[in-house]
Amino acid sequence: MIVQITETQNDVVARARRVMTPNYKPQPVVFTQGEGAFLYDREQRRYLDFAGGIAVCCLGHGHPVLANAIAEQAKQLLHVSNLYFNQMQIELAEKLVSISFADRVFFCNSGAEANEAAMKLARRYMQTVRKENRWKFVCAHHSFHGRTWAAISATGQPHYHEGFGPLVPGFVHVPFGNLEAMDAVIDEETCAILVEPVQGEGGVLAPDPAYLAGLRAIADKHRILLILDEVQTGVGRTGKWFAHEHSGVTPDIMSLAKGLAGGVPIGAMLCTEEVSKGFAPGAHASTFGGNPLACRAGLTVLKVIEQEGLLSHVERVGAHLREGLAELSTRIPGLTGARGMGLLAGVGVDPKVIDRAAIIERCRNLGLLLTQAGSDALRLTPPYIVSRSQVDDALGILERALNGEGATP
Ligand SMILES: *Cc1c(COP(=O)(O)O)cnc(C)c1O
Repeated sequence: MIVQITETQNDVVARARRVMTPNYKPQPVVFTQGEGAFLYDREQRRYLDFAGGIAVCCLGHGHPVLANAIAEQAKQLLHVSNLYFNQMQIELAEKLVSISFADRVFFCNSGAEANEAAMKLARRYMQTVRKENRWKFVCAHHSFHGRTWAAISATGQPHYHEGFGPLVPGFVHVPFGNLEAMDAVIDEETCAILVEPVQGEGGVLAPDPAYLAGLRAIADKHRILLILDEVQTGVGRTGKWFAHEHSGVTPDIMSLAKGLAGGVPIGAMLCTEEVSKGFAPGAHASTFGGNPLACRAGLTVLKVIEQEGLLSHVERVGAHLREGLAELSTRIPGLTGARGMGLLAGVGVDPKVIDRAAIIERCRNLGLLLTQAGSDALRLTPPYIVSRSQVDDALGILERALNGEGATP
């Protein structure tokens, strides 16, 4: 172990602050182990993990089936590159195709890269297959699509742009949930609409149930593509494999990442047969993308979700969590109501009444991890294996923190 037992947690934090670039602001805690929905720090204090690695650790920590599959694969074969076929990549692609609208899959290593691939494919499809000069993307205010240059350009939150100008050209933003505004900005140079089915980082905002169907109709009317960023909502997070299934319509392209391999870095861009014609050999690539380790982990996650019946569990336990958050909102001033879908849950917070950072700190001191989202929400994204009684425990801790307990002495 690299962290020395004789060091205090503060020593470790000080070491990190000396050598890491200063773009993160980590909370002063070092986790050394996890089991199920729990994390343990260096002092063996236990935390209910409703941050879930930011909606990544869908099977929780230390899931034996996932851990064994990763260990086995590591002994067998880690990496070969895309100069050769690999069995695991083919199997994960087949599985993803079988559970989705998509016909074809491209693998990469993160959500931003999956969106990058989606946007590159959309432009290349328009320019090389349709032979139309379409290059603009319409995205939503408060969206989040990742941190590469094109992904921040797509992201509709100005603070992610600060100091990085000029941005990649060709991105237009309209209010999330507003179909008229979307329809109005599309012109003969528009290539695609890119939105999240539920905005995660933007504040756990689920649109009107008819929104995605409206976007599909607008995209069809203008003969442009619909790209859904399901990096956070995909792979069961909302109680269906993909959040757009709640709407009854399908996109042309979808990006996935976060939960797909349960914590092993992976990204995927899925598309229809027609749109896939935009790529030709050499058009796009990733050295690590789809390596046997990540794909074995992804395949195992999908199998475990199926075998353990986790989609319906997410739906039930997520509804229970959001009912609890709605109920808390009726009693605690400054809470403005439950948000989200499945286990992508949030509670609105009036920042003038409640200091979110203080609540997160008090919850942590009381043994619960959660995250902020947008300017006015607390977000809860526990693993899919979380139990109803663990949800009740988390709600109890959150209430105590909101009532002033747990302050750092
Ligand atoms: C997290 C997230 C991303 C970025 O994923 P990275 O793996 O950090 O690049 C993109 N889109 C959405 C909706 C996300 O939640």
